[in-house]
Amino acid sequence: LVKAPDALGRVSGDRFGALLVGGDDVTTLAARADAIRRAIAAPIAVGDREASLTASVGWAAFDPAAHRGRDDPLKDAEIALAFAKRGGGDHAEAFRASMRTSGADRFSLASDLRRALDRREMRVVFQPIVRLEDRAIAGFEALLRWEHPRLGRLAPSEFVPLAEETGLIVELGLFAMDQAARELRAWQHAVDVRPPLFVSVNVSSRQMLRHDLIADVKDVVARSGVARGTLKLELTESLVMENPEFAAQVLARVRELGAGLALDDFGTGHSSLAYLQRFPFDTVKIDRSLVKPDARGARPVILRSIVAMCRDLKMAVVAEGAESASDAVELAQLGCEFAQGFAFGQPLSAADARKLVGAKPAAA
Ligand code: C2E
Ligand code: CA
Ligand code: CA
Repeated sequence: LVKAPDALGRVSGDRFGALLVGGDDVTTLAARADAIRRAIAAPIAVGDREASLTASVGWAAFDPAAHRGRDDPLKDAEIALAFAKRGGGDHAEAFRASMRTSGADRFSLASDLRRALDRREMRVVFQPIVRLEDRAIAGFEALLRWEHPRLGRLAPSEFVPLAEETGLIVELGLFAMDQAARELRAWQHAVDVRPPLFVSVNVSSRQMLRHDLIADVKDVVARSGVARGTLKLELTESLVMENPEFAAQVLARVRELGAGLALDDFGTGHSSLAYLQRFPFDTVKIDRSLVKPDARGARPVILRSIVAMCRDLKMAVVAEGAESASDAVELAQLGCEFAQGFAFGQPLSAADARKLVGAKPAAA
């Protein structure tokens, strides 16, 4: 992919730089950056095994107006690389001028975050969760997005860790729960299906450790008037395992108050399976790493067992990261009840989610 007169070199550690000559067309550059990412992601045979690598790619087009110094294009590409990594890796990111002013300046991002709710920059988007049997929409997962005035739309991976460090996650989490419950009420009001539509909201460790989580859930459930069990909290295994005794108590209270509980990213932590019975979860969300077929197209063998076990425990099962039509078909064959993923839709704005379920738009 990199041929003379292009040049390839090692910048430092695990960072490599490619200088691509002759072409400032950004579409071509974007395609080349992505081709490099894909080439690296191709599995490599190591003996009788297969190894997979992923790369994060940051790139910048040479700009005679902005690039005065010799190193300037490389610096911009490195800023873009930092964004690509923060986006979760295996990803190519183009440099944007807005990245330079913000830099990786966590301090200013933290102060921006502090004001984001007041400035109405936070949005909640809703990704459909589909019942595999008839492909009907069963509910949605609420996911936060930050419309940053300079950086554009930021994904949770770009601000949730910071919100956790600074404690702002408590307010953000309550905001997400409140918005989700409002939308849920609108959907349930408009469509009378049995069982009723549900929404699930992510809860972080900081929120859980604060005793007010119980009070918050009580307020939101009471205020919104949604059907019992249809507002669900999603908690990860690792969060619950941080303090199992405490978690068991809080979760039991939350259930009594009429909220549902989903165990998120199941299969990525190391909880004892016995805990599944000890905590009052009604839903298990199987992490996409267990749902995705491997390089040979086979799905992890434990996927089938996990689905069977959850069904025996009378828990609803959602497979995450269903990306293709064959994912959907095979998951249904395994007996998996629900699926979520790009095969069934990207996260939607609140307005689009209402349209999809046939509810009235929100009053302006
Ligand atoms: P999660 O709970 O595992 O959420 C699912 C993530 O997977 C979402 O990313 C979603 O857009 C993405 N996804 C959905 N379908 C597919 C697919 O088919 N393939 C792939 N590769 N990805 C898919 P998103 O929105 O960037 O959220 C990332 C994480 O941020 C979430 O992971 C959750 O842990 C956290 N998060 C999101 N909203 C909140 C929130 O309100 N509070 C807290 N505490 N955390 C949140
Ligand atoms: Ca989740
Ligand atoms: Ca998840």
